[in-house]
Amino acid sequence: MIEPTCLGCQLANGQAQAHIVYENEWVTCILDIAPLNEGHVLILPKKHYAEVTDIDEITSLALMKASLLISRVLTALFQPDGVTLLQNGGSFNDLDHVHIHVFPRYKGDGFGWIEPVDRKNNRNRLKETAAHLINYINDLSIINYIQSPIGQAIRALSLLRSQQKVGILSTKMINCYGASPQQRRLTE
Ligand SMILES: [Zn+2]
Repeated sequence: MIEPTCLGCQLANGQAQAHIVYENEWVTCILDIAPLNEGHVLILPKKHYAEVTDIDEITSLALMKASLLISRVLTALFQPDGVTLLQNGGSFNDLDHVHIHVFPRYKGDGFGWIEPVDRKNNRNRLKETAAHLINYINDLSIINYIQSPIGQAIRALSLLRSQQKVGILSTKMINCYGASPQQRRLTE
């Protein structure tokens, strides 16, 4: 869907003036009007997504493929010291439409990030932070798995097995589809 009042949608769909350097069915790449270095490109999905966390799988792949394409082009044309890919979300998204910045970098070009004071002692809590993330990711994986067609099928078979209507079949299916031990436990 395109939001008629969204500048990002207009830029991505040829409804606002922009220097388009590449486009395909899913994304448009335009020059940033205030380049941090020459060749600073913005990559926008043609559909309206306010946040990167909202985008569908095909669009996410198209954004990354375009990012790689532009990175390679900038590297070939400008021979920079590096290329930066950057995406600002939430309060830091100044377009309210997902866009990835890709721009060449040079030593001493003045661009950088400022590392804030580590007020919450994050550096010494990496183990705890990792565990926090891993637990959440595992939960997400399990939910996605259960909602997938094969997850649904295995759950149905497990239910039948628990009613002693199916014996070895469900175990064979689980092995066949390579369910993780964690996922396998769910079907026990
Ligand atoms: Zn938009």
